[in-house]
Amino acid sequence: VRTAAQWADFGRDHVSHGLGRLRDHVVVKGEGLDLYTAEGKKLLDFTAGIGVTNLGHCHPTVSQAAAAQINTLVHLQCSIAFHAPYLQLIERLLPIMPHPSLDQFFFWNSGSEANEAAIKVARKATGRQNIIVFQGAYHGRTMGSGAMTRSKPIYTQGSGPLMPGVFASAYPYWHSLGVNPSTSEEELVRLAKHQLDLVLRQQTNPSDVAAIFIEPVQGEGGYVPCPPAFMHHLREVCDKHGIVLVVDEVQTGFFRTGKYFAIDHISPSFRPDIMVFAKGVANGFPISGIVSNKELMGALDVGSMGGTYAGNAVACAAGIAAQDVYASGEIETNVEARSEQLYVTLNRLATSPKTRHLIADVRGVGLMAAVEFRSAADDLTHEGLPEGTTIPKNIGKRVQDYCLDKDLLVLTTSCFDTIRFIPALVVSEEQMSRAMKIVTEAVEKVAL
Ligand code: PMP
Repeated sequence: VRTAAQWADFGRDHVSHGLGRLRDHVVVKGEGLDLYTAEGKKLLDFTAGIGVTNLGHCHPTVSQAAAAQINTLVHLQCSIAFHAPYLQLIERLLPIMPHPSLDQFFFWNSGSEANEAAIKVARKATGRQNIIVFQGAYHGRTMGSGAMTRSKPIYTQGSGPLMPGVFASAYPYWHSLGVNPSTSEEELVRLAKHQLDLVLRQQTNPSDVAAIFIEPVQGEGGYVPCPPAFMHHLREVCDKHGIVLVVDEVQTGFFRTGKYFAIDHISPSFRPDIMVFAKGVANGFPISGIVSNKELMGALDVGSMGGTYAGNAVACAAGIAAQDVYASGEIETNVEARSEQLYVTLNRLATSPKTRHLIADVRGVGLMAAVEFRSAADDLTHEGLPEGTTIPKNIGKRVQDYCLDKDLLVLTTSCFDTIRFIPALVVSEEQMSRAMKIVTEAVEKVAL
């Protein structure tokens, strides 16, 4: 029998160095937003496993459905036959799709794999090779999805060559475009359109482009919502050139932004050609998927897709149960109330004379929110600063460390000096105010 400290030592000795961690806690149990460690600590989880356990850890409806499925059928490889939970999960997802043309599904285990599948569908259906992504994108760390990830080089550095043919254009985000944080949305869209136009004129002929991949709220790249006007523009560009528009809703799906999908905020007629989903769909059980239309999916050769565990029966059963909870409406209402509470604190920090000199930007949609701190090394974030103000280094990291010391788990994002907030969507008023008190103390402490 090992003590908690011995287990942590064991982890350091035997878990590959290639995995990073916030802290070396050994977690033994999760319930709602609480995580319990082997040492007997209770942590308040504002990471939700990076936007996965949207209904909280071990939601009883989901866990009970998974437990029942475990005694009925655990595994049936998807190329052998249909299994009932696979079909029932599709039946539940069909009516919530953002566009009626999205009615052809298959499931995978992770977001990265689903993005790989989307690449394959787009290439096969168009007979073209190139892919356009956006600066700051995160689509995964495998050889195809990693080639499309542009948030931080560490995810793939030294492990290339990756999948060739990927070009990156600017996301309509001030950092991506080299302008100030107060730049209007209209101007950001104008500049980002121009950059995409240049990519299509100078780097790859549109007739060589199979797909454009976009996150409707950029995740690891800094929690940056994409203005609807830019999404509409992408639709037009794709229609004009016969390019497949892939929307990666891996992190934004299942009420993270207050609606089923982030693109539901755009307009009911907005139509992606492929939508990729994962994370929240089954509240922690490993299942992802892509959905597309009959024409694109019809281009695949029978047997060209599939995977041993893809669409596992227990994960599907968990996904069906999670849909029951999402459909109740309670989650949507809670996201609205708790996100208001969250933004009040973040906006207060951004305007308070004590802390405003530290903050460059507050942004997000629903419970996918971030604060970007001014950076000591980056002039763009210095807009509006009184002359002579000194900005401390690594503010986000210091705020995060303070929160971790107080047993509040929060994440930074891959790039720039950003702290993000993605609690489970069932977060209570008390939990939100407890967390916001710690975050306020943390920022005030750095400001001292
Ligand atoms: N796409 C997006 C938008 C993501 O946020 C992530 C994970 N953070 C992925 C893809 C990759 O998903 P996974 O880690 O399940 O492979």
